[in-house]
Order: sequence, then structure tokens, then C-alpha cells
Amino acid sequence: EPVLRLEGVIKEYGEEVVTRVLHGIDLTLEQGEFAALIGPSGSGKSTLLNIIGLLDRPTSGRVLLQGQDTRGLDEDSLARLRARTLGFIFQFHHLMPAFTALENVMMPALAERGWPDERMRTRALELLAQVGLKERAGAHPGQLSGGQQQRVAIARALVMSPALVLADEPTGNLDTGTSAQVFELLRHINREQRMTFLIVTHDPRMAQRCDRIIEVVDGRIVSDRREPPHSG
Ligand code: ADP
Ligand code: ADP
Repeated sequence: EPVLRLEGVIKEYGEEVVTRVLHGIDLTLEQGEFAALIGPSGSGKSTLLNIIGLLDRPTSGRVLLQGQDTRGLDEDSLARLRARTLGFIFQFHHLMPAFTALENVMMPALAERGWPDERMRTRALELLAQVGLKERAGAHPGQLSGGQQQRVAIARALVMSPALVLADEPTGNLDTGTSAQVFELLRHINREQRMTFLIVTHDPRMAQRCDRIIEVVDGRIVSDRREPPHSG
């Protein structure tokens, strides 16, 4: 079954004056996909990402995560489902400055009951090694470069082994070279672990390097194309 399925998702804002921001979105993401979500500013990408991320509810339509219909779930159940199945990477990393890289990566696991400290620590160290920061586990965010901070945030997003990673302009705050490195890291994790990614980006070069490009204009998917595999 698909990791994500949206059926006729409509989102409206306002009460007296109702604005329809999403006009019936149908979208399926299969396990292991690496997809870009593109479109002009104001087209509804953030709204869509918030709905997929269970941070906001559609006005109508259905959101299924790994086959589970999220429509009838209360806030607690949504929060639990979010923690178990979704990872988030934002443009700004939102690391906690008072905590070390290792502690920041462990943070989502701390909220999950029943994980012994040692297992959390091991998992977080593995991830830091994977993003090339094993030696910096004890550093605080302020002691790391922008690219390193974003890599810590990526490790944190992966700590619960999410089925789907939602990335909103994950390299929007980085210089070109660092941005390419961070993007390649996401690509690598996708290939190695078959983890599914949906990446909002304004960068056409980044979109070109995804396997699938979903374009939203005025709250509608206007094109959804799979890219031929790249050489190298
Ligand atoms: P929001 O998620 O708040 O709606 P946007 O996703 O529209 O914000 O934009 C995020 C950032 O990208 C903003 O700083 C915006 O100025 C910039 N941006 C928006 N559209 C483009 C574009 N077409 N090309 C490059 N940068 C853009
Ligand atoms: P994008 O991320 O593509 O820039 P958004 O999803 O942020 O687009 O916005 C889509 C449209 O929805 C915009 O016209 C925006 O002004 C509107 N919008 C977003 N959030 C709200 C809100 N909370 N209340 C009212 N309108 C909103």
C-alpha cells in the first residue's frame, strides 16, 4: 500500500469570506519515492505540506498514511501517528541551542515512551555518523556551521525511522555548495533506506534531481511527472 494517499483534499480558509486554497488534491506517494513539490509562492504548497504532516486538517477529502485514514482521529492520535510515521525538515533547523548535537537528535525519541536511554543514544550516534558528524556529537549548535546544523536536523528527522520525510525548503538557508551537499545527503538516505521524501523547493536544479516533480498552481496539481533516471 502507498505511504501516502490524498483523495479530493480541499482546504478553505475564512468564515464569512471563504477562500479555497486547495481545490481537490489527489496524490499518491509510494514507498521509496523521492519527489519534489514545486509551484509559485502562494500556490498552496505549505498548506498541502501541513495537511500531509497532520498539522492541519482538510476542509474535506481524505488523508491516508500507510493506509490509515486520519479523518476520524483526535489530536492525541494524530500526534502519535505523526511521531511514528513522519519526519520533518525545515528551512531553519530549529535546533535547541542549549543541547548538544546528540541530545538534539535524541529529542523526538525522548518524547516516545518505552525507549531505553541506551537504545536512543545508539540510534542517534548511528545517524550522526551517517550524516558525517560522528566526531561532533558533543558540540552545541552554535559551534557548528550552517550545513552541519542542517545535517543534525536531518538526523533528528530520521531518528524514529519515519515512513515519510517532509522537507520544506531544506536547503533554502544554505549557500550553493553546502546546499548541494545537504541535498545529496537526502538523496543518499533515500536510496540506501528506501525512505520516502517529499521536498518543497524553489530551486529548479534541485527539483530536476528528484525522481518526480509535482507542480502546484493556484491550489491544483497542474503537472506530475517522473524524471528519467540520471546518470551518475
Ligand atoms: P511560505 O511557505 O511562507 O508561503 P514561500 O514558500 O512562498 O513561503 O516562500 C519561501 C521563501 O522562498 C521566501 O523567502 C520567498 O521569498 C522565497 N520564494 C518564494 N517564491 C520564490 C521563487 N519563485 N523563487 C525563489 N524564491 C522564492
Ligand atoms: P505556498 O506555500 O505555495 O507559498 P501557502 O500554502 O502558504 O502557499 O498559501 C496558499 C494560499 O493560502 C495563499 O493565498 C495564502 O495567502 C493562503 N493562506 C495560507 N494560510 C492561510 C491562513 N491561515 N488563513 C488564510 N489564508 C491562508
